Amino acid sequence: MLAPHHQATTRLTSTLLFSLSRRAVQSTSRGVSRRRPTGAAQHPSTPRGGMPRRRPPTAAALASAALAAAPEPPLPAALSDPGPDVRDDAPGVHSPAPCPRTGEDLPYSRSPALEFRVLARQGRARAAALRLPRHAALTPCFMPVGTQGAVKGLLPSQLLALDCHIVLGNTYHLGNRPGAAAVAALGGLPRASGWPRAMLTDSGGFQMVSLLHLAEVTERGVEFASPVDGSRMLLTPEQSVAIQNALGADVLMALDDVVPATCDDPRRFAEATGRTTRWLDRCLRAHARRDEQNLFPIVQGGFDVRLRARSLRDLVARDAPGYAIGGLAGGETKDAFWRVVAQCAAGLPPGKPRYVMGIGYPLDIVVCSALGCDMYDSVYPTRTARFGVALTDRGTLRLKHAACASDPRPIDPDCSCLACARHTRAYLHATISRALPSAASLVSLHNVAYTQRLTRRLRAAILAGTLPEFVRAFVSAHFGGDPAAVPQWVVDALDVAGIDLTGVAALRPAHDYFEHEAFGGRRDGDLVEYPVGEEAVAAADRAGAQQDAALIMAGAAQAAQAAVGADRAGAEQDAALMAAEPAEGQKSDER
Ligand SMILES: [Zn+2]
Repeated sequence: MLAPHHQATTRLTSTLLFSLSRRAVQSTSRGVSRRRPTGAAQHPSTPRGGMPRRRPPTAAALASAALAAAPEPPLPAALSDPGPDVRDDAPGVHSPAPCPRTGEDLPYSRSPALEFRVLARQGRARAAALRLPRHAALTPCFMPVGTQGAVKGLLPSQLLALDCHIVLGNTYHLGNRPGAAAVAALGGLPRASGWPRAMLTDSGGFQMVSLLHLAEVTERGVEFASPVDGSRMLLTPEQSVAIQNALGADVLMALDDVVPATCDDPRRFAEATGRTTRWLDRCLRAHARRDEQNLFPIVQGGFDVRLRARSLRDLVARDAPGYAIGGLAGGETKDAFWRVVAQCAAGLPPGKPRYVMGIGYPLDIVVCSALGCDMYDSVYPTRTARFGVALTDRGTLRLKHAACASDPRPIDPDCSCLACARHTRAYLHATISRALPSAASLVSLHNVAYTQRLTRRLRAAILAGTLPEFVRAFVSAHFGGDPAAVPQWVVDALDVAGIDLTGVAALRPAHDYFEHEAFGGRRDGDLVEYPVGEEAVAAADRAGAQQDAALIMAGAAQAAQAAVGADRAGAEQDAALMAAEPAEGQKSDER
């Protein structure tokens, strides 16, 4: 057993804080939209008794009309079908292709197991084809998370029908049970899980730090007490890569030193930034399948622009096939969040994919894509679905709300998923309220369909050169057509992305954001450090934290039952999630 250790306790505390406060800022940012009307009962044109009155169309109605009038254009053949495998001797393979719209040369890169071709660029945003060993994905793209090698509630064939390009496999759970060797014996994770397209595995470090008790990061690796028998265990960079080599996904992630976003110790962030680079070098030396798998480093550095710049410089020098931006979606302020995304996207190579880890809120996907990022993952769309929360352009729809009990409409009339094609809100209200697994599956299906449709529309808008118009319509609809509801961070981030929200948001860009060459800004400026911690902790939602604690307990208890089969464990965890449902009003704060 671990000896009592002050540092370990401190880190455990911050680890728990990290985990417990993950949704804190999200809840503040979404608090605005929660007040927006989302259902028929609150529709602005619904008369409150008496004679119906004629009113001019509201901004919300205009935004809805704008979105409806701009349906997803069909993808050009070149984008929807990146073509047969590129041969080395094919013309243009080793050179950038010009943009069909502007004629400019577009960024391109090729490594043994990856080819990345930017197909069109608008402002900082880009649409690209990402050829991986198993599938040629298109970006921007959202990757659903499969915790046990399967996305909860959904079949691989359904994910295929929803046009998911890449699914994320969770290394910690798979490495623990059935074990990397067992998965390798089954032909690797993609074959074992029946997923025919591209796959990405995480390093396992984040799961350990965020889920397990008594996790401690040292130079050797992540040390933790086994959830099975309490014995001391260690995950080193070499072991993480060995497990991921055995799982056999198209992309594997370097083990990084993750510091809780709410940590207020600058020395800890500095230590983790250097250690992440040292661990990356160990991961690269251990990587045994370079011709078949791509190792992505993860940019760290907290919320200090100098640390982020150092991490960017160190990692870019390693010339990896693609890069991830880490340390976000962990309880930081939205203002700190977008600045890090903007700095990292501007500092990463233009011809390589950029993956922002842990991003699943539709608004975040839109903003990060506008800032030049390509790939996202989060359990949010599927987890929040199990609580009966459906994603739409107009915000989240709480199917358990009484207003849905007799609502004959589908979740989203613009969505063609099975849930929207066949079922009413009233039916889903009745079944999700009784915790029927089929209801959770239907809402999960819709939410994944929604994220795929959102990224498909982003790609089409970038390709057509209409991204600003799409983003303005999206932001307007997302905040109920109320310009006063659009938060300052959205205005500022989109301003940096070159998208003007005049007429959509009441606020004007603050222009106090960091402007520095490392940030891709317009001029050099003073180095600014963005304090994190106080605000995020103060905003921490108590109910959400309690729910997280219940989830962690449920996860630990589940892991202890090593003999229970994966299917049954998944079902139990689902049941625990349902049982741990928070108070009304907290449900969409899950990530
Ligand atoms: Zn749907």
